[in-house]
Amino acid sequence: MINLYQLSESELQDQLTTLGQPAFRVKQIIQWVYEKGANSFEEMTNLPKSLRETLSTQFCFGHLRIDMEQVSKDGTCKRLYRLQDNKLIESVLMPYRDGRRTACISSQAGCAMGCKFCATGQMGFARHLSAEEIFEQAQRFSQELQQEGERLSNIVLMGMGEPFHNYDAVIEAIHLLKDRLGIGARKITVSTVGLVPKIRAFAKEGLQVKLAISLHSTLDEERTAIMPINRKYPISELIDACRQFVEATNRRITFEYALIHGQNDTPEEATRLRNLLQGLMCHVNVIPLNPTAGYDGSPSDPVRVQAFIDILERGGIPATIRVRRGIDIDAGCGQLKSKKTAEQS
Ligand code: SAH
Ligand code: SF4
Repeated sequence: MINLYQLSESELQDQLTTLGQPAFRVKQIIQWVYEKGANSFEEMTNLPKSLRETLSTQFCFGHLRIDMEQVSKDGTCKRLYRLQDNKLIESVLMPYRDGRRTACISSQAGCAMGCKFCATGQMGFARHLSAEEIFEQAQRFSQELQQEGERLSNIVLMGMGEPFHNYDAVIEAIHLLKDRLGIGARKITVSTVGLVPKIRAFAKEGLQVKLAISLHSTLDEERTAIMPINRKYPISELIDACRQFVEATNRRITFEYALIHGQNDTPEEATRLRNLLQGLMCHVNVIPLNPTAGYDGSPSDPVRVQAFIDILERGGIPATIRVRRGIDIDAGCGQLKSKKTAEQS
């Protein structure tokens, strides 16, 4: 079966021409799939019945199979997908009261970066996802929302994997998200562990996509201890690339900062962070650590978190606490934890 999501408009055109169909069928099908959220040919009522039947035997709507799904009290939906080669990945949909519908999607099965506090990092690397596999995670949520009269509004690449380790596929997927789902670049966020050459390349893509950097420490020795990639791209080089990104794009960067009790949550650390980011157009997202099986750090308590934020804000660095979503189903975006995944990889 040919994956419909894998075909460009002209490729679909070629397929339909082979079937002896007029050119306007392509537009009809694309409208059904990407504007109305159809996930079967049966629904495409303005197509002749015989054509719908033929198409059903030749094309499929993507390759992701739902292996497990959990829905939290706050509406957050966490999904485990099985890929064609049986690898597992996670996607999360977060509905917000203000109407936003944000999908958190994966760029790889597992991750090679080995950050100590991260459940995905603890699993190791399985493989890169293709652009279509990245795209399809968003398409699935988008399609389901469309059927309920809603719209997927935002995408964060903060699921499993390091997006810039799979750079080309991620860029291609971003174009698919923009072109096919009509999601504006400003509504898409890519989060990276800090692969400096790719940050520099990303700055030149001419995309208005938001960039988030997982910083988590201001001291090289401590950052290297929890994020081994820091040995290759130390903090000074990382911040330099961030400055270049802001200059080139005139876009604000987000720094992610997971607060680990007694480690990187001291007032001294907050002051160093404030100094490090001085003059850089940015925002800090503070996230109390989500405990994972393979790491014995614990989250900072609310008082320390607030004190940390206050120091940043007094220094003119905007900072907010990232509210954890789907807490009852353990669906913290980018803090993916799944027993099943861990067992299988
Ligand atoms: N690989 C990318 C994107 C996925 S992780 C990156 O590292 O940026 C998304 C975010 O969740 C990152 O900021 C990551 O550092 C953070 N994260 C991972 N595990 C976490 C945990 N246990 N507690 C809090 N934040 C975590
Ligand atoms: Fe990979 Fe990001 Fe987890 Fe680090 S935090 S191991 S880069 S997914």
